[in-house]
Amino acid sequence: MSHLKKMMLDKQLRIELWQRLVEFIEEYITNVNQARVAPHLDADKIRSLLSSISFTQPIDPKQAVNFVVQGLWDYQMHVSHPQYFGLFNPAPTTMGIVADALVAAFNPQLATWSHSPFAVEIEQHLIRLFASQFGYNSEKADGTFTTGGTEANHTAILTALTHKFPEFAQRGLRGLDKQPKLYVSTESHHSLIRTARSCGLGAEAVQQIPVDDSLQMKVDALTKQIAQDRAAGFAPFLVAATAGTTNAGVVDPITQIADVAAEEELWFHVDAAWGGAIVIVTEFRNILAGIERSDSITFDTHKWLNVPMGAGLYLTRHPEILLKTFSIDASYMPKDALGLDVVDPYVRSLQCSRRFIGLKVFLSLLVAGWDGYSTVIRHQVNMGDLLRQELKKSGWGIVNQTKLPAVCFVDQQRPEGRSVEFIESIAQGVVSSGKAWISTTRLKQNIPVLRACITNYRTGSEDIYALVQILNETRQNFYSKTSQT
Ligand SMILES: *Cc1c(COP(=O)(O)O)cnc(C)c1O
Repeated sequence: MSHLKKMMLDKQLRIELWQRLVEFIEEYITNVNQARVAPHLDADKIRSLLSSISFTQPIDPKQAVNFVVQGLWDYQMHVSHPQYFGLFNPAPTTMGIVADALVAAFNPQLATWSHSPFAVEIEQHLIRLFASQFGYNSEKADGTFTTGGTEANHTAILTALTHKFPEFAQRGLRGLDKQPKLYVSTESHHSLIRTARSCGLGAEAVQQIPVDDSLQMKVDALTKQIAQDRAAGFAPFLVAATAGTTNAGVVDPITQIADVAAEEELWFHVDAAWGGAIVIVTEFRNILAGIERSDSITFDTHKWLNVPMGAGLYLTRHPEILLKTFSIDASYMPKDALGLDVVDPYVRSLQCSRRFIGLKVFLSLLVAGWDGYSTVIRHQVNMGDLLRQELKKSGWGIVNQTKLPAVCFVDQQRPEGRSVEFIESIAQGVVSSGKAWISTTRLKQNIPVLRACITNYRTGSEDIYALVQILNETRQNFYSKTSQT
């Protein structure tokens, strides 16, 4: 029996551990707002904590968990902190945490339908409902849960290649007589370039189209580039609009890009990894008007739907394309469901063994409902408006235009308020205070700005006031230091 004890532990000990686990989680959720938002970045210290561990001497389970909990408290960005104004990383829903614990315990295998019919049907149900939220015909639409937006974008490129070049699945890119090209804006997410590379297309196959002053893809430049590429012997096959850019929350002109895609017979993908959630709110739906004309959509539920990472979605209105792209016969895969009207997930996904990603979305939605999510999203949009308003009052200038709560700003009081030195110094000042986290980025690849995004449903107006106060103090310090020298 002692081998079982190694894996399962004794019942009494297990019960104590579960209780501790629940206490640790509850304590984290309750007290995270008292932690430093950003950790001290001390690699040597962390490595020295680990250096004595070589797994030769088993330790007490409670001690083991304590060690890890302490490490997580001390050394991570607390994205659940209401003053984390970051990169779309959510404070997880309570139901999402419950779901992930259940999934770990039941460990359903989502490669085949027959191993986990309940889980697979839940995911299929969710895919149909999300497809319909985005305006697809839910009877025909298909999709797959992914680890995140990167895998969803990867899936989009592969399905587009398979759709446009029937010989691709068998012969690969070397079976094509022309070099394929795809189009994104210069503000699009870098994962599209990375996945183009891992599809064997190479980064040069990704043509980045410039953006206008509102940071939206220039549609006339897109049309021109396609014509030029065709004349030069390339084979344009995909255009991706971004619905909510990572930098600035800007939505590309979806309808106009859909027109170009239709005219040019390109696969039309919309990367709505973060911004896609806005369709849930009736009065904001029109911000993504035209998305229903897309061939595929990337949507990350681990962003604005606040489920624990990683939970992305790839959706498509082409019912057969995932099968065409990924299906392959493997004699060892279970055939228990043969003859039933069901499809195995592994023949429609880049993944084989797969975690039950959909449960955290399902349980969160079951409890909050679409209405609950609408309330949350509306609140965050309002907090974004409040942040813009308070920044302007204090002499900061907003440089991006969007309804979504991603705010890019500079200082308007002095000319150096737009300099890289100022921008980086302000961000560092805020982060090192431990009270809040914001970041910097470059718009149009060269305009330095500060960036604060309402990513957390726990962020309230008091947190906005606090952030603006920290920013004002940091700015004052910067100017008094630079005027002394
Ligand atoms: C976050 C994001 C991605 C990448 O998603 P991951 O889940 O981080 O892989 C892709 N596109 C956009 C627009 C994003 O915001």
